[in-house]
Amino acid sequence: MFDVYKIREDFPILGRKVNNTDLVYFDNAATSQTPNQVIDSISNYYKKYNSNIHRGLHSLSAEATSQYEESRSKVREHFGISQNHEVIFTSGTTHGINIISSGLQSFLTKKDEIIVSAMEHHSNIVPWQMLCEKTGTNLKVIPINNDGTLNIEEYKSMLNPNVKFVFVNHVSNTLGTINPIEQIIELAHKNKSKVLIDGAQGAAHLKINLMELNVDYYVASAHKLCGPTGVGFLYGKSELLKSLPAYQGGGEMISNVTFEKTEYADLPHKFEAGTPNIAGVIAFGTALDYMNSIGFDNIENYEKELLEYATEKLKKIDGVKIYGDNKQKISVISFNIGNHHPSDIGSILDQFGIAVRTGQHCTQPIMDFYKIPGTVRASFSFYNTKSEIDLFIDALLKASKMLG
Ligand SMILES: *Cc1c(COP(=O)(O)O)cnc(C)c1O
Repeated sequence: MFDVYKIREDFPILGRKVNNTDLVYFDNAATSQTPNQVIDSISNYYKKYNSNIHRGLHSLSAEATSQYEESRSKVREHFGISQNHEVIFTSGTTHGINIISSGLQSFLTKKDEIIVSAMEHHSNIVPWQMLCEKTGTNLKVIPINNDGTLNIEEYKSMLNPNVKFVFVNHVSNTLGTINPIEQIIELAHKNKSKVLIDGAQGAAHLKINLMELNVDYYVASAHKLCGPTGVGFLYGKSELLKSLPAYQGGGEMISNVTFEKTEYADLPHKFEAGTPNIAGVIAFGTALDYMNSIGFDNIENYEKELLEYATEKLKKIDGVKIYGDNKQKISVISFNIGNHHPSDIGSILDQFGIAVRTGQHCTQPIMDFYKIPGTVRASFSFYNTKSEIDLFIDALLKASKMLG
């Protein structure tokens, strides 16, 4: 049923050449590629019903509004969310985190503590540091184990009545580690702490039910799951979002404006000020439809196969060190070869048309933990193939030889 070559036909970019060879795209953790269905969804909007939403009474506006709101229903259904108004459209994961960090300013004090982990993306670190600077709140960090998992025993010992919030990623974009978020959430809730999960990677690779997870906030970006850039969503439990101050002021987020006092609109509009990325939100819904038509079970199984295939081959190359080689991970491999600088390897791979990421991957604390300047990161998606992995391994052997 799962036919990768058939699936690849949906992705026009996979047919292009880079440096005179077929593109091999292994930078999916940075952004995924876009299928025709999603590209068509964007162009249909501009060709057929481009119009502002929630404002006009005319037919185009009604069509655009209904498509936009249908995307909200698709996100609700796909992520197992109970109510549409708990889905806030954002410009992406970073925006979602900033809505919460800005809203929490009025709730946190010097006495309080918040917890992040040492394997967070900078976008799940910096907003909390900025918040702590304003409120005097203490930032605590869950350490990493050498195998790239989180030190849960240490996390347990960090929980105390002053801890108000825990911010952890579902899946590490650098190591690929799937964190035990069920356990992290349960422990936090026993401690009366709230939890925000950065789902930028988790949402792209795993089927998730947010109601079952009982998480307080979850954020993700469309562009990592075959959708367009500049769109994402923030999920929050209704009562929490209602208690949070609005983030930006403007049109669409108010119910009554006078110079004496402005009343804010109800959820979700309170957090969606101004004209949103309408085409992007609609195409996000199409991307979810597309991925569901392939099936997340199929995606998970196939990506696991790719991960195991590549890991085994990679380990046979002299001097390869993989960071975060543990059992619970998605199809991301961070590695180095001997003392070669990751960017030297990356540029040679590019000469062979192979796109990987090199550097710190917005996770400097992970690099500091392993005492390395960076890694080469290959991240696979369900449209990649084993023969692409063979090309990648060949190119790595050549790179290793060239660099001596
Ligand atoms: C990509 C990523 C982000 C940032 O997402 P944006 O779309 O750039 O806002 C945050 N966290 C993780 C784990 C990511 O992979």
